[in-house]
Amino acid sequence: MPQYDLLLKGGHVIDPANNVDSVMDVAVAAGKIAALGKDIPAGQARKVVDVSGLYVTPGLIDIHYHVGHGGAPLDWFTPQARVHLLPLGIPADLALTSGVTTIVDAGTAGADTFQLEKEEVIDRAQVRVLAFLNIVANGMEGGLEQSVDQMDAKLCAETIKKYPNIIVGVKTAHYWTEGPWDGEHTPWAAVDNAIACAEAAKAPVMYDFWPRPERSYSDLILKKARPGDIHTHVFAQQFPILLKDGKINPILAEARQRGVYFDVGHGAGSFWFRNAVPAAKQGFVPDSMSTDLHTGDYRTVSMTNVLSKFRAMDVPLNDLIRRSTVNPAREIHRPELGTLSIGKEADIAVLEELHGKFGYIDCGYAKMNADVQIVARLTVRAGRIAYDPSGIGMIEWEKARPQYFNNPSEGNSAPATAEDSPHH
Ligand SMILES: [Zn+2]
Repeated sequence: MPQYDLLLKGGHVIDPANNVDSVMDVAVAAGKIAALGKDIPAGQARKVVDVSGLYVTPGLIDIHYHVGHGGAPLDWFTPQARVHLLPLGIPADLALTSGVTTIVDAGTAGADTFQLEKEEVIDRAQVRVLAFLNIVANGMEGGLEQSVDQMDAKLCAETIKKYPNIIVGVKTAHYWTEGPWDGEHTPWAAVDNAIACAEAAKAPVMYDFWPRPERSYSDLILKKARPGDIHTHVFAQQFPILLKDGKINPILAEARQRGVYFDVGHGAGSFWFRNAVPAAKQGFVPDSMSTDLHTGDYRTVSMTNVLSKFRAMDVPLNDLIRRSTVNPAREIHRPELGTLSIGKEADIAVLEELHGKFGYIDCGYAKMNADVQIVARLTVRAGRIAYDPSGIGMIEWEKARPQYFNNPSEGNSAPATAEDSPHH
């Protein structure tokens, strides 16, 4: 009996956690990474996939995602429903098509709706789903993110402690971007409540933020945010990323010195080339790549689309992989993820770097021409092939075993698959 279930042969392995960046084979057994080596014999594996010319990396981690339907009230489409908007989130497993094996729902659910999100989505997904809990008990679906009395720091912290294996932090978002301040709506109410919850739960905060004269961006990242907290949507239109002379705003480096992390959180409204390109050119690349996938943007944005944009800005691929594996794992305090270390769960992405004529768009409907694109060719989740659209891990149909050619209506043919393989 071969000792490995799956052998990815001849790929260029990039595993920043272990400083691996060279051509190597990766072997999987019993759902775990079993071996990395220069020439692991093909005979030692039940299934061998030739990945030469491709990059083999740890499964990517997208720490800003919105799962469908993410704690939305089950009656959302009935006349009695409080809101009739289409639920914000999208299917969790769509992430697998981009080489992503771990997603973190960014506050779609709060304390009152998390149980529903867990039962409907998290417990059923093939992709690993973790979550930031919205400081607002009702989460994002109920239209209550403006209600300060819904921000219950104690309930939030209790809920985080109840699900230590799933909830990784607190999220605050969308709070009072325009309305006049009043007794209830003070400038920092959402941020302060999120921090109070995070202090009690000993967890990081992810900030979605809108600066106003009474609450500046520099106060958020230099005073309010604690070391280990994350500012997401960093290249959104509303942040002073560049000074008047085009130089990068020094508060970003100062905040980094303090231990604050910056996350892409691209989404439908939070990524402008006018901020991203000059920043990247001056050496400021966000600590973590992420999509902010929700119903507003999933037709264009994906993790590989985000990586492609930064690759087109000349960020080296191995650096992008670090910012999609080790870095986000550190931000959510899950160092066991985002690595190909022996014995770890076998979450693997096989990526290809294409060269040709490509175009990318931002949230201001501006375009950037490029000559490079990153695409996902194979995704392995817990040792099983979860995504393989071009069949690089499959046998040619003419070579399939006899039962593949059977007509099930004539009986006696299951399973009608071409071979036994670790595909889902
Ligand atoms: Zn979001």
